[in-house]
Formats: sequence, structure tokens, C-alpha cells
Amino acid sequence: MPFTPFNLRAEIMKQIEEEGYTNPTPIQSQAIPAVLAGQDVMGLAQTGTGKTAAFVLPILQKLIPGPRGKLRALIIAPTRELAEQINETIRSLGKTSGLTSLTIYGGVGLRGQISALKRGVDIVVACPGRLLDHLQQHTISLTQIEILVLDEADQMFDMGFLPNIRKIIKHIPTKRQTLLFSATMPPDIRRLTEAILKNPVTIEVAHTKPVEAITHAIFPVKAHLKTDLLLALLKQTETQSVLIFTKTKHRAKSVDKLLKKEGYRCASLQGNLSQGQRQAALNGFRDGRFDIMVATDIAARGIDVSRVSHVINFDLPDTTEAYIHRTGRTGRASRTGDAYSIVADTTDDATMIKQIERKMGGPLERLTIEGFNYNLAASTIPKAAFARTHQPQQRKKTWGSSSSAPITKRKR
Ligand code: AMP
Repeated sequence: MPFTPFNLRAEIMKQIEEEGYTNPTPIQSQAIPAVLAGQDVMGLAQTGTGKTAAFVLPILQKLIPGPRGKLRALIIAPTRELAEQINETIRSLGKTSGLTSLTIYGGVGLRGQISALKRGVDIVVACPGRLLDHLQQHTISLTQIEILVLDEADQMFDMGFLPNIRKIIKHIPTKRQTLLFSATMPPDIRRLTEAILKNPVTIEVAHTKPVEAITHAIFPVKAHLKTDLLLALLKQTETQSVLIFTKTKHRAKSVDKLLKKEGYRCASLQGNLSQGQRQAALNGFRDGRFDIMVATDIAARGIDVSRVSHVINFDLPDTTEAYIHRTGRTGRASRTGDAYSIVADTTDDATMIKQIERKMGGPLERLTIEGFNYNLAASTIPKAAFARTHQPQQRKKTWGSSSSAPITKRKR
């Protein structure tokens, strides 16, 4: 089996097999030997590349022979969802390791976290704010940490967590192994990397290029017809599960509401939800109870939903990096996916599309929807035309090109 050269312990190999991983992904091939050799690693990789297992597998290998109940590995992640996701990977790959792990983030009670820490854990996956609270209250000690992982460092920077991270690192022994993963490398992250990593091995996995398995296309439309176009697009597209991005949480909520009204099994993920509601929405999307998730960038960052067949940008993102992150939610780990953007006739959208095309190295395919009235003065498409239960598997993809020759299915 291609994981064999890493000489991982039998209990880990068994779990790799159980997860159905047959070949290491490129980031795993490069990161696992480096981490096992004790080197610091700077991984330039977005989610969907298998980066979580790339650090979890060697961490398990290193911790299994040691004592239990001593906090030796700390993983810092920007969002609660990502922390939970990493913890799930630790729990599944480390199922028979006897190692224990715990997530620490805000929005939930402190008491449970404190008593779990008192009982003793081997690995903590934490968001910076709550971890700092624990440090200030002396309810956690990081003095025995041997391996520190900073995941999605650029996102933590975007969210303003860098000062907290610097404070946290002061509590960790300097004699440690540090791994930092980031999809992009803005100057502040580069400076952080230089400050906290020692002679790191740099591993770069297609961070500037979108995932190859994704087909990108745009749907130009007048700004006031975006909602109607979204409905027509969903109606005519054969989808499995769809992740729709909006600019604001308010818009996420209203698109979610509209789609529910149209009969879609839909949920939204935005900052106003309680942790319980967010987790319920995510679980529902992951296990197929919802076909559509409407989310903002922050809420969806790092979320691994491996069955996402389509990402639709209802609103374009503000940066090309965000475009790559969003569209990276589909086509994960060698599956294929479509990334569609609804592009309004505004200067902002035109500028952003130009930048995205430059980043992608060529023009994005322009598509139109057959039968859609692009000349409507206002949103006059009768909503009844779209009211139905969502039955994606039975729907045919019937695109019309700009010259209106119908295409039944594009080749991937
Ligand atoms: P990540 O980039 O860590 O978010 O991982 C993305 C997805 O790839 C997750 O669903 C993993 O379970 C999956 N994955 C990770 N490693 C492998 C592998 N070697 N083979 C197949 N799938 C993998």
C-alpha cells in the first residue's frame, strides 16, 4: 500500500485503510516524512488537499509511544467548525491509539472544558480566543507541548487573531516542533513564520492554482435579476449538494429563506447562529438532509463537505484568494465539481472577474441559461414556475450557450 514507506504504526495504518485512503495526497507525501523527521514545516495548501491528515498522521505516530494524559500537541484553528473537523480526523485516524483529544472554543461553557483538561488530554484543538482565556485563568498548561500546529494561518490573520497567537506562543516551550499551514502567504504570515518556525521545510501544493477537478464558469446577468437567475440555475442544474456564497450574513439569511420557500431543502451558515444551530446545519448538509447551504466566507472557511458538487457565488468575493477558497469547497480530494459565479453588470463585479481570470490564467467560460429572460425590467419571473420539490438527480443539465445552441452536458 502506498502509505507503507512512511513506516506508520499498525494501528494507524488500520485506520487509514478504514478511512478509505489508498494513496497519500501530494501534501501528505511531502509533509509526513518531514514531520516524522522532526522538522518544522510550512505548508502552503488549501483545504481539500488532505492537509489535516498530513499533520494528524505524523502527530499520532509521534505521540502513541509516549505517556497518556499529558498535553503534548496543540493545534490552533480559526473557527469552531474547523476545530471540530480536525478533532474528528484525530478521533477517526487515532481511534485505536489510546490518545485523547479535546476541542476548545468560545460560545460554549467553560466548565466542561476545564474538567476535561483536569482529567488530562493528549491533544488539544483550539480557537485562539478561548485558549487565551484558559491560559489567563491558568486552567490549561502548555509547558509540555512538543508539537504546535497553526492551521489556516491566513484566515486567523484575516480574523485578527495574530496578536492572540503571539501571546499563546509565549506559553509554549521554544524547544518544540512547529507546523504552519496557510492557503496564502500575506506578508504578516511570512513574518510570523520567520519568527516562530526554525529552518522550516516549505511544501507548496497548488495554492495559487485552483483545484484541477473544478470546472469554473460565470453567468453574467443584470444586477436586479441575480435572484431569478439563481433560481433558474438551480432548476436546470443536476446537483448533489450546493454551497452558495453571499457577501453578508443578512443576504445569506434572505437567500436561504427564498430557497426554502421555493421548496429546497436548505440551511444557512452565518455568524448569528448559536454553536448548536451551526453544528446542526453543518451536520444536516454533510449527511444529505439539506441539499443546499448558504454561507458567508467566514462561516464556510475550512469546512470539509466532501460531497459538494457545486459552489455558486451568488455574490462575488472581495479577493481572488477568497474565490479560490470558496471554489475549493467543491472538487475535494479528487472528486469533480462545478464552480459558478453569478456576475452582475456592475464595475465592481467586472473588476473582480478580471482579477480572477488573471489569477486563473485565462478567461472563465461565460454561460447563459436557456429560456431565461435576460431582458426583464424587474424580477417578474413567476415564482410558481420554480415552486417544486428539489429532485436533483432527475433534472437534466440543459445549458444554452450565448449563441443559444443547447448543450446537454459539458465535458469535465
Ligand atoms: P482536508 O484538506 O484535510 O480538509 O481534507 C479534504 C478531504 O480529503 C477530507 O474529506 C479527507 O477525509 C480526504 N482525504 C484526506 N487524505 C486523503 C487520502 N489520502 N485519500 C483520499 N481522501 C483523503
